[in-house]
Formats: sequence, C-alpha cells, structure tokens
Amino acid sequence: MTFVASPQTDSPDARRYNRLLRRLSIVDSVLGLALMVVLLATGWSGALRDVAFRTARGQNYVLALFVYIVMLAVLGKLLGLGLDLYSFRLEHSYHLSNQRLRAWAWDQLKSFLVSLVISALLAQVFYLLVRKFPQTWWIVGWAVFMVLFIIFAQIAPVVLFPIFYKFKPLENMELRDRLTRLSESAGTKVRGVYEWSLSEKSKKANAALTGLGSTRRIILADTLLAGYTDDEIEAVLAHELGHHVHRHILKSMIMQAVISFAGFWALKWVLRWAVMRKELFISQYDFANLPLIILVTTLLSLLLMPLLNGYSRLNERQADRYAWKSIPTITPFITAMNKLAEQNLAERQPSRLVELIFHSHPPIAKRIAAAEAWAKANG
Ligand SMILES: [Zn+2]
Repeated sequence: MTFVASPQTDSPDARRYNRLLRRLSIVDSVLGLALMVVLLATGWSGALRDVAFRTARGQNYVLALFVYIVMLAVLGKLLGLGLDLYSFRLEHSYHLSNQRLRAWAWDQLKSFLVSLVISALLAQVFYLLVRKFPQTWWIVGWAVFMVLFIIFAQIAPVVLFPIFYKFKPLENMELRDRLTRLSESAGTKVRGVYEWSLSEKSKKANAALTGLGSTRRIILADTLLAGYTDDEIEAVLAHELGHHVHRHILKSMIMQAVISFAGFWALKWVLRWAVMRKELFISQYDFANLPLIILVTTLLSLLLMPLLNGYSRLNERQADRYAWKSIPTITPFITAMNKLAEQNLAERQPSRLVELIFHSHPPIAKRIAAAEAWAKANG
C-alpha cells in the first residue's frame, strides 16, 4: 500500500485560529453564566418578572412567562453581540467564510428567532409541569423532555436545517451507487444522501449523519463534493455509514437521557433549596428562578463536556475503523483527512489537555496514524 505524506506539525495560523476559537467559546460561556448570576444576585430577575406580569395585565401566567423569556433572550443576545461579530470577523480574517455581513446578520436574526421559539416552548412545558405536579415534576418533566428531544431529532433535518441551508438529493449517480453498495454490504439501508449547500456561507467542508427513522440521512457539504475525489468522498460516506451501523445517534440519545435524569434530579434539589430554605422565590413555578435553572444546567453541561466529548471520540474511532474495513484501501481516507485539516484550518495535533476537554473528534494526526497502523496490521 502507499503511504501518503502528512504534514507533521500545525501551521502557526491553524494554532492561532483554534486558540482564538476556544477562547471565544470560553468567554461566551462565562458571559452567559455571569448574566444569570447578576440577574439572581441583584434581584433584577424578580423585577423582570414583575414587568412581565404588568405587560401581561396581571394574572395571565403563560403570556407573562413568554414576555419574560423574550426579555431574557434579548438581554442575552445584546450581551453576546460583540462576540458574535468577533466570530464573524475571525472566520473572514482566516479566509474561511463566504458570507457577507448582511447575509450573516439575517442568519443571526433567524437563529435568534428559532431559539426563542424553542426555548419559549420548553419553558412553558417546564413550568406547566412544575405547577401540575408539585412533587414529581422532575420525573414527569424528564420523561416529557425526552419525548420532545426525540421529536426534535427526527424533525431537525427536514424542518430546522432547511431554515439555514438548502438541501437536495445527491445527484452524482456514481457516488449514489457506491453508497448503495456500501450499505448493502453492511446489511443496512440509509434513506438518502443529500447535498448540503454549505458553500453559500463557508469555505469549510463537512459531512454528517442526521435524523431518526424516516428522516435518517447522510448530508455531504457541496464544498466536499466539489473538492474531493470520488474515492475520498466514498471514504467519508463509509465513515458516516459507520455511525449508522453502530447506532451512534441512538446511543448518544441514551447517554443524554441518563445525564438529563441526573440534571432534573439536581434541579429538583436546587429549586427546593432556593424556595423553601432561602425563600428566594415565591414558589417553584415563580419563573424569576429561570436564571437559576439555566445556571445549574449550563454548569452541569460544562462539567460533563469532557466526558461527552470522550464518548464522542470513542464513536468517531469506531466509525473510522468501519470505514477502513469497507473501502478497498485506506489511502483516500488519509488524503481526505489531510484535505479536511487544511481546508477547515483544523489543528492536527492539539495538546492532550485541549483534546480531552474540547475535541469531539480525535485529532487528525491520530486518525491518520491509527489508519496506517490498522492497514499495517491487516495487510
Ligand atoms: Zn464522524
């Protein structure tokens, strides 16, 4: 077999870009948490709740909660606006973006509205359950949120993603035949492969397995289809098929379910403590406690990030091994990895600590080394 020369070290640009991205996400999280702490510590959350009830003319709880959510969302967005703009400029200064400021601003507005609708819906369901089931809301809430989560995962590729990107079935017949052969030899069926119009916004390339049941599909960025050989795209398809064959979406959802159960249990304790012991809120369903709920869940997810990323890297390695076994030679896998690293300005060799905390995928240098070791061992 042929070995493909891979660059051994990362360029200063790649290192700087990834360092800035990490700092950006850290500052973003800290700002979000700080806003919640300030709202709670100053009593402004209670003041916002009073404004919300006045706007809703008194006793209409559902409307008041909606007004409160809108105010909280606008506050959060205004506070994060500087960082959003910085991230837009960062992508441009490293020549990774194809998007003009206007189109970007429109996307920002759309994503603000989409997340507002989703969070308003979740908050209404949450407080409704807290009111109806004062003792057991955390178990009922967990079950209801899991059902919503499954529905969400199912409709995301057909309802949510198209708000931001265009999708169309893959037109390249040769590639479709290859995928059909790949999935037949795996004894499975993927419902479809779609071309994803990423190039409207970004110069980066990507691919993913998304959806559940009837919406399960592989999506391939048009940037990938344009710049990679059919053999390389087949290697990427084989990797995504590996996620499907090993049921990684289902397994991740089970993992989420276990973690969410612990999260709801923690929320129960925190809310009871805040209401009964500290008398910070009038009742458990006094929605001025929402910043406390956001604070607890965000802290929990930040703490669990290394664990979830570790689990994701495990799945990625499994999908890689599946890909090596399914394609005639690993060479296109390696060349595709190298192209991806270069095109996306990825860090091939981040420090071990950075990998452990931030990376959902094994670093590219490790993926290539593992492929070569596998090929050596398997002839
Ligand atoms: Zn993957």
